[in-house]
Amino acid sequence: MIRKTIILTLTICLSLVLFFPSSIQAQNALNIIRNTTSTEFPDGLHFNLSAQSRVNITDVRLHYTVDHTSFAEVTSEVFIEFIPDTTIKVEWTWDMRKTGGLPPGTTVEYWWTITNDQSDRAITAPIKVSFDDNRYTWQNLTEDEITIYWYHGEKSVAEETMVAARQALTQLAKDTGAELKKAAKIYLYANTQDLQGAMIYPREWTGGTAFTSFGTITIGLVPSRPDSIKRAIAHELTHLVIAQVTFNPYNELPTWLNEGLAMYNEGPLEAEFTNLLKKAIAKNSLISVRSLSSPFSAYAESAMQAYAQSQNLVEFLIKNYGQTKMFQLLNIFHEGSSYNDALIKVYGFDMDGLDTLWSDYTIKKFRETGVTTAMILPSMARNIIRQASELLSNVLSAAPSWVLR
Ligand SMILES: [Zn+2]
Repeated sequence: MIRKTIILTLTICLSLVLFFPSSIQAQNALNIIRNTTSTEFPDGLHFNLSAQSRVNITDVRLHYTVDHTSFAEVTSEVFIEFIPDTTIKVEWTWDMRKTGGLPPGTTVEYWWTITNDQSDRAITAPIKVSFDDNRYTWQNLTEDEITIYWYHGEKSVAEETMVAARQALTQLAKDTGAELKKAAKIYLYANTQDLQGAMIYPREWTGGTAFTSFGTITIGLVPSRPDSIKRAIAHELTHLVIAQVTFNPYNELPTWLNEGLAMYNEGPLEAEFTNLLKKAIAKNSLISVRSLSSPFSAYAESAMQAYAQSQNLVEFLIKNYGQTKMFQLLNIFHEGSSYNDALIKVYGFDMDGLDTLWSDYTIKKFRETGVTTAMILPSMARNIIRQASELLSNVLSAAPSWVLR
């Protein structure tokens, strides 16, 4: 049962007078009486303002920005509806059930513009508010650019997660040359249910998400499989790093490269994935590199095969052509290159060429060995849970771009 208790944390940001433009005459001065926010995570952020003037206040606007990586700085402006008066009390709620949510710990900066009948105007000083998941009492552990937040269990869980994060970053740099450029925040939820409670429209199988433009990762621990955290951290951290390294306004990475790198950095492919590869080879039903460049199927088995193939494609490129070429490929994608052009520039073959070479590689690797019997639960379920949030991002067109991936 997801805890639905709503805890309103009233953040008293500022009260009384905030700012007086020098042009305002004393008799018409605009006084800010109250300027507060309260968080109702993850559904909304409430803004409250009271103000006073000698003449009617006729116009109130709220402005806010969200701290995340984007191609252009966007300031949102909200026109507040109210009845003009000398004393006003207004409120506005950013309803994230309508706009899509924010990850925990996101900084929102806001300010108000208030105008009266005499055209006097007051602009409040910008205030930063952290949109925290205040349903829990968080502790944190920071080492260099990584901060881990947790609220459940011993500090050792956070310490082990920190070690796993560092190992994942080291391995990624070794394989691809890509390194974390900005601070990363990792939120550990005690279980999948708690994690789902942090999302606006949770799915039963959501187990973790990388909010790449925020540098934030949320993970739901699986108490029965403590080792799964290492794979989940490696996977999601890889998404953060790769998103930073290839950030550009022109083109997204082919899905096979993005997911393949994340899967490859987890470690050896798990049995349920290799079995799907063997099955696809036996049935001559490998998905083409061209198809794998688009979002994966919404069907679980087909999607899992796509993840398995992607991991194997990246393994093929790294093992045969090395770290330097992979780093070049990422840098060319950072320039917004098309998929074929990038491959040709670095490797001398296009998507179809890669398809042919890789098919030979994977068929040789997997054809001889039989399908093991360890195909089904519980490890299968665990992986479906972990990967499915990514599928969600591929199929949910309504989700804002920053919500997932
Ligand atoms: Zn992924």
